[in-house]
Amino acid sequence: MIEGRESPPILRVAVPVPLYGGFDYLDIGDAAPTPVGSRVLVRFGRRRLVAIVIEHAHESDVAAARLRAIEAVLDDAPVLDEELLGLLRWAARYYHHPVGEALATALPVALRRTRMDQTPNRHRGWQAAANESANEPAANATRQHELLAAIRATPHPTAHSHLLARFGSVQAPLKALERRGLIEPVDLPGALEHGVAGTAPALGDDQQVAVDHLCALGDAFHPVLLEGVTGSGKTEVYFQRMARTLAAGRQVLFLAPEIGLTPQLIERLRTRFDAAIGVLHSQRSEGERADVWRAARAGDADIVIGTRSAVFTPLPRLGLIVVDEEHDGSYKQQDGFRYHARDVAMRRAQQRGVPIVLGSATPALESLHNAEQKRFAHLQLPRRATGAAMPPIRVIDIRSRPLLGGLSDPMLAHVERHLAAGNQVMIFINRRGYAPALSCHDCGWIAPCARCDAPLTLHSGGARLQCHHCGANEPAPPACPSCGSKQLVALGAGTERVAGALRSRFPDVRIARFDRDSMARKGRLESQLADVASGATQLLVGTQMLAKGHDFARLTCVGVLDVDGGLFSADFRAAEHMAQLVTQVAGRAGRGDLAGEVWLQTRNPEHPLLHRLLSDGYDGFARAALTERREAGLPPYGHLALLRAEAHDMQPPQAFLEQAAATINVDEHIACWGPVPAPMPRRAGRYRAHLLLHATRRARLHPALDHWQRVLADLPGARRVRWSIDVDPQDLL
Ligand code: ADP
Ligand code: ZN
Ligand code: ZN
Repeated sequence: MIEGRESPPILRVAVPVPLYGGFDYLDIGDAAPTPVGSRVLVRFGRRRLVAIVIEHAHESDVAAARLRAIEAVLDDAPVLDEELLGLLRWAARYYHHPVGEALATALPVALRRTRMDQTPNRHRGWQAAANESANEPAANATRQHELLAAIRATPHPTAHSHLLARFGSVQAPLKALERRGLIEPVDLPGALEHGVAGTAPALGDDQQVAVDHLCALGDAFHPVLLEGVTGSGKTEVYFQRMARTLAAGRQVLFLAPEIGLTPQLIERLRTRFDAAIGVLHSQRSEGERADVWRAARAGDADIVIGTRSAVFTPLPRLGLIVVDEEHDGSYKQQDGFRYHARDVAMRRAQQRGVPIVLGSATPALESLHNAEQKRFAHLQLPRRATGAAMPPIRVIDIRSRPLLGGLSDPMLAHVERHLAAGNQVMIFINRRGYAPALSCHDCGWIAPCARCDAPLTLHSGGARLQCHHCGANEPAPPACPSCGSKQLVALGAGTERVAGALRSRFPDVRIARFDRDSMARKGRLESQLADVASGATQLLVGTQMLAKGHDFARLTCVGVLDVDGGLFSADFRAAEHMAQLVTQVAGRAGRGDLAGEVWLQTRNPEHPLLHRLLSDGYDGFARAALTERREAGLPPYGHLALLRAEAHDMQPPQAFLEQAAATINVDEHIACWGPVPAPMPRRAGRYRAHLLLHATRRARLHPALDHWQRVLADLPGARRVRWSIDVDPQDLL
């Protein structure tokens, strides 16, 4: 039955369920139709869900008599404006993800609930008191002095949450400052922080060229890749371009990876721009995130800085997008709605007609390829802003060398030499825990996870076993369950073991370990970093948590213990990630006046890609890696989508994927590779397999995926598996 034009429109809504397409409902009320982008409450099956109106339709596939009415309209004004809704609908199509789930991902959690607490949250802050007679804190009350300086840095109140993130435990020193009459608590009007205008440093020549170029490109859509070695002053270049956008009264969206969005970066923004700044990262509460989102939507935030999901912040006055560390893997969501925030940002900039700057010391191969093809302008900062030289990178061949807690003798000698000179040393190993496996010396048994095809990792000095894939956690056995031997040995090394070995070798040196286990407590990372900055800590051991953003003047030696994993992996991007990590970590050394050096332990000193990295740097590596990718037809020369399936039994994923493969008409432009078991065939008790769809042209990939989107759910094997589509997968694990 076809509805007449004069009848009220049908609301097509997106419901947060794993089903493609919209669902039709009748509007309620007799005023104007509920606007597109509004949240409405609907009955869906037996549930009541928050849905978003995505279209007004005049006819429906559902018979009019069977259409239900929505139950309530939740907002006075649409939560998603036309631009954001358009972007999200594009992203749902591009990533072949159900639109309702995609939309739900974009909304702050607090706004996804059926009932919304409309009262804005209270935001505590502090401001300097105008008290003439107040006493300054004692000279040795370091924390009080630091806090006071931060609060006095701007005439605006400073958010308590910012101080907490920057300094760790702040309760007692803040109370002390308040008792002295130096500061006073205030209620902030919202979740935004207000910065203060600061002076920009005089730019170096390369920086000036980059800024001039960026400004000359104008205010329309222009993608730019800013490639600058670590410490070359990219942030300063972004800032000067941002100043122009802000001066024109427009908003800036600044994306940073989780570990790059440091309190130092926020502090730099806060002391540079007389602007309202909204910060969106995982440490903020749901309420705070919702408040920043609302403030951005109202146009009150001038700068929004955030991690991956901030790309979906509503910004009515958007004028510029910056994506810092654009190569970072955390921009790709790894479950559910698997979007890539850099690529969505690119689309958003294009759609809005605003410039976008992607910055990195080690650009993704895709971005370098785009620059080569002249799709992106390519600006380079080949030197450090401070004039410091880049450190040489050399290898230590550890074949047939004994290792002490993962460290070779030559590595220990380098550490000793730099410590003796009064400098700082950083040891990098991308594996937390004590050792990656526990093995029986007599029969070769290796402690397995009961639910995953992976060995358990030793923790707590060897006392406990943990699975890094499913979270299993148990005491280490006293004897081998297979042969009864008590000769159990820890194989390999993780951060805990390396730190322990260094402690026994250098008992008088203060050592700090940086990994997810040791830094679990809020504020701990910041206080540990402060001890490194002050020079109290001389030796740092850590995971990639150490790779970015930190700037220590006395750090002259960096050791990398495990590059080999990146050379021989089932994942075609592993070598790229290894090269990025090595280059980033190396960038930590010799940033001050002292020259630095970097040592890599490897069993494969002749590996061609490692060789290229050492002889020609990241650019040389990237050229070699791109050649390999072209020969293999891999991204950016080929286009991939991964169909994943998993189930409690081994057979169903394979059967389902075979049925899926049979629905694709393969030709010279499109192929199905697989199905094959995933590199880790069983995880958390589920058997996993995948099928790779490969297209020589992107234009060929999407029609095939559209077809899958229509037919997969109806395949006979679909009910026995959990499946998902991953477009442009970052890894094949
Ligand atoms: P990147 O983001 O490229 O790693 P940063 O912008 O963090 O580099 O700059 C590295 C260091 O150099 C910082 O300490 C910064 O304050 C300093 N710096 C950047 N630009 C200049 C400049 N023009 N003059 C002096 N110091 C600078
Ligand atoms: Zn045994
Ligand atoms: Zn497990």
